[in-house]
Amino acid sequence: MSTNQQLQNRRIAAMPRGVGVMCGFHAVQADNALLTDAEGRQYIDFAAGIAVLNTGHRHPRVVQAVQQQLERFTHTAFQIVPYESAIALAERINALAPIDGPAKTAFFTTGAEAVENAVKIARNATGRSAVIAFQGAFHGRTQLGMALTGKVAPYKQGFGPMPGEVFHAPFPSVQAGVSVQQSLDAIAMLLKTSVDPQRVAAIIVEPVQGEGGFNPVPAALFEGLRALCDQHGMLLIADEVQTGFARTGRLFAMEHHRVKADLITMAKSLGGGLPISGVVGRAAVMDAPAPGGLGGTYAGNPLAVAAAHAVLDVIDEEQLCQRAQVLGDRLRARLHARQKQDAGLAEVRGLGSMLAVELRDPGTGAPDAQRVSAIVRHAQEQGLLLLTCGLYGNAIRFLYPLTIADALFDEALDIIEQAIVHTAPQTVAA
Ligand code: PMP
Repeated sequence: MSTNQQLQNRRIAAMPRGVGVMCGFHAVQADNALLTDAEGRQYIDFAAGIAVLNTGHRHPRVVQAVQQQLERFTHTAFQIVPYESAIALAERINALAPIDGPAKTAFFTTGAEAVENAVKIARNATGRSAVIAFQGAFHGRTQLGMALTGKVAPYKQGFGPMPGEVFHAPFPSVQAGVSVQQSLDAIAMLLKTSVDPQRVAAIIVEPVQGEGGFNPVPAALFEGLRALCDQHGMLLIADEVQTGFARTGRLFAMEHHRVKADLITMAKSLGGGLPISGVVGRAAVMDAPAPGGLGGTYAGNPLAVAAAHAVLDVIDEEQLCQRAQVLGDRLRARLHARQKQDAGLAEVRGLGSMLAVELRDPGTGAPDAQRVSAIVRHAQEQGLLLLTCGLYGNAIRFLYPLTIADALFDEALDIIEQAIVHTAPQTVAA
């Protein structure tokens, strides 16, 4: 078998550097929260394929559902020959999603595609074109997803021109010193100076900013956005690609709010490792585009649909929403205890098991991406895979499978604590 180094050399020779790769090791096997690399080393996986594996790697129920579907058919193209399993999945999601009144769901393949289609639907339903998004947001790497994304490097750099009529508002954040009122005032100013509210089709927002740093939307912002949408006939799109499917302690993060979105995008953990995405929304809005306007060759692929049914079963049967809260509380308590002794841990934030810790220089208050990298590196050396996030790359996010065993979770928490202690300024200086 090839070594990690040999595989890395082949990757660099065969694949473009634009597909940036974080790890120097290569997966050969994965089970629930454990990944095994090409040299037989095991890692506790707190990346979970970037929030895809809330139900863990190869959950037996997911594997069984896909195997059974493999024996029947793997592809017909739903738009050519439809099948019951996709219809039943739409029915389940319509019943579960926090949408006001009757809902409908369309399936796609990736998160970016779900975002693209949510905007297409919003434009079609309103007859308007502009979209307001937030600074620090991440909505995908397609042309429109990239335009909606509120971070230049590496997502937009050199890829312009951006599609027009996308406007960004500041996202409220304690660390950035932006209040909800300032954020709403900035949108009001956009509507005064840059775009006629009658041209705005939608406001798109992640209920907890993912790549942007695991910043939850405060309830007051959602109230303000809803009021603005209702006042001007705009639609509210909640991008739940990263927040969805039990991660925040609810099936959809929007369930934490009184306010309802008109459209919700979903992807990642819906498929438990198989590629499927979707848009659920108010039926009247979803039905705006004419037949043929929505879809995709692989949209609602039968194997991914089978996996998604199993994922929803597992979330329910294993009570993963409650589990997300329990695990999140344990991690939060550990980080808070550390924070008392380490002024570099500026903020512990998030919802349920969508938690991050932000690091700043205690002296200057500057974002401390360097220490974040050191913590991630140290944890990886100890066999724990962590991801960063944040506009300045100065936060660590924790995306463990919610199915992780207690003992393995505790082992991971110990490694995190050791990595934090190991990289504390006084330890580095000693
Ligand atoms: N929206 C959000 C909120 C995301 O977190 C992501 C992926 N990180 C996307 C959209 C894009 O999803 P995909 O990579 O599947 O296209």
